[in-house]
Amino acid sequence: MPDVFADLVGQDEAVDTLRRAAAAASAVLRAAAPPTTDAAGDEFDALADESDGGQPAPVVDAGAGMTHAWIFTGPPGSGRSVAARAFAAALQCAYGTGCGGCPGCHTTMTGTHADVRMVVPEGLSIGVNEMRALVLRAASTPSGGRWQVVVIEDADRLTEAAGNALLKAIEEPPPRTVFLLCAPSTHPDDISVTIRSRCRVVPLVQPAPEAVAEVLARRDGVAPDVARWAAAAAQGHVGRARRLARDPEARTRREAVLAVPRRLTGVGAAFDAASALIEAAEAEAEASVAETAAAERAALETALGAGGTGRGAAGAIRGAAGQLKDLEKRQKSRATRAQRDALDRALVDLAGFYRDALTMALRAPVAPVHTDTAALAGAGAQKWDAEGALRRLEAVLECRAAIEANVKPRIAVEAMMLSLWKG
Ligand SMILES: [Zn+2]
Repeated sequence: MPDVFADLVGQDEAVDTLRRAAAAASAVLRAAAPPTTDAAGDEFDALADESDGGQPAPVVDAGAGMTHAWIFTGPPGSGRSVAARAFAAALQCAYGTGCGGCPGCHTTMTGTHADVRMVVPEGLSIGVNEMRALVLRAASTPSGGRWQVVVIEDADRLTEAAGNALLKAIEEPPPRTVFLLCAPSTHPDDISVTIRSRCRVVPLVQPAPEAVAEVLARRDGVAPDVARWAAAAAQGHVGRARRLARDPEARTRREAVLAVPRRLTGVGAAFDAASALIEAAEAEAEASVAETAAAERAALETALGAGGTGRGAAGAIRGAAGQLKDLEKRQKSRATRAQRDALDRALVDLAGFYRDALTMALRAPVAPVHTDTAALAGAGAQKWDAEGALRRLEAVLECRAAIEANVKPRIAVEAMMLSLWKG
């Protein structure tokens, strides 16, 4: 049975930190449990007895520092939320190790543990009401007798008010509550300095392509040569590598993006390429959210008794318009987010192409990101020289930054395409 940290690719140092903290957390619980008459304590002892057949006893390390607030940082795709979930499982593990086989590990990993809440922002930010409700629930006694764990993915998308609500909880933490935040970095733009100062930071690194290829082959059964190609093309993003290896549509979309440099033959072509890129991102996003949106609307309509004629129906209809409006607002925000994510993936692919051209122009001894467009990047390197390749790479990165700073995507992408054409 692989343990809960098995999917954390190329993060040995972070895994070591988390294992020791989980063992320390388990020791805290054991020290707190009264020796008799405590049901949870008995249960723990019983499980500990069973563990003789192969589960290593957790090693208690006084310096391992279990604490109630953590930040997982690292580049996109490095596995921030994977790490947070694995650590949550290890905290709920009956053996304190994250064995992967006990009910605590299993239910956490499948998202059904009663004391583990994963907050995944659907829109562009996490609001204050959502956060207040969360903090309130997190303060309750853990039903499983171990920890209340709250995982906040994309904690960099907290609104300021939501951040303050969270800060209050982190400053005066309930004794059995653990907050796990995920953010790209601890830069003040991502996480407020005051929250940062109350948290222990677990930095994740961009995993090496070899490590990503290995896990695709082992866990997902991808053929080794496809795994190597996908790992390189995804630039250390584990989830993206898996999609490229397994989803033909993802490969087609990537090919369309990598065809852009070849197509930029004039101003008109640059605007056409911009439109194509935006529309492809919109189509991809629409496909990813459409199914959920339709199901949600149907569920809400059923709950509101659409078409019902009972005594409750009139009251329900009065409230219905507002609720439908709320739902539509949420769905719109989620769609915008999905579009930006899709566009960002395309821009990362494009940046990889110009990075290849740059490294070739510099004759740097590094493997290309996109092996399948290496010849084209080589031709670009000859034509543009290092300086021209660098300017183009910078244009792509500036476009990403502009969209992140809320410039309208079409405007940012059009500006980028013109720069890519002119150089
Ligand atoms: Zn376990």
